[in-house]
Amino acid sequence: MKRPWPKRLWFWGGALVFALMAYRGGTWSLTGLRGWRLRAFLADPDGHPHWIRPAHAQCPGAPFRWPSTGYPGFLRGDSWGLFHWHTGVDIFSGQAVGKTPVYAAYEGRLYRLAHWRATVAIRHRDPLHPERFIWTYYTHMADPQGRSRIVEAFPPGTRGVYVAAGTLLGYQGNYSGRPGRPVGVHLHFSIVKDAGGLPANESFPWNTLDPSPYLGMPLTAWQVAPWRTPECWE
Ligand SMILES: [Zn+2]
Repeated sequence: MKRPWPKRLWFWGGALVFALMAYRGGTWSLTGLRGWRLRAFLADPDGHPHWIRPAHAQCPGAPFRWPSTGYPGFLRGDSWGLFHWHTGVDIFSGQAVGKTPVYAAYEGRLYRLAHWRATVAIRHRDPLHPERFIWTYYTHMADPQGRSRIVEAFPPGTRGVYVAAGTLLGYQGNYSGRPGRPVGVHLHFSIVKDAGGLPANESFPWNTLDPSPYLGMPLTAWQVAPWRTPECWE
């Protein structure tokens, strides 16, 4: 009797297991390998100048500017667990808290909710889909105890203040949201859907957008090999 299916089953079963292993996190996953490269950068930032993208850099034809000088160590879709996907891009300066400026990627109206110590968000008319609004979201701008490194022009409770592209917002920090539990100094930058005039909950991947077309470069985990630095498409 001819039974052609087991071979295929093995192939697709194996492919599925491999894909899950590669994706779910851990040392040998895409994210794990990117983590090794990030550690190499952080151990010697000055020794890796070509990994650093300067603030305000703009790829040809892309609407958004790079928001802060540093190495994009983790990308959107990097994963630290099967259901723990990264919603944005992490930009590591390799410098101490409060040293590296963070700038608006595009013009819009800035909001800072009353309880936001380390975060601002800017509402934009979407330059790629002008019928809708989107948000750029900037966080970790505080010290380990949550003392803000956002500029004084944008106190908690700021609502709808116009900012031009390139406006100084604050400085890279390492506040995790839990005092005394710092992360590495970086900017977490993401693009978030609009939810009735406020940003949708940024911690859910499905509320965020792929930043790649807005910055003109590959910025999702599966677009960039873990031994490469993202570069402009054009
Ligand atoms: Zn992040």
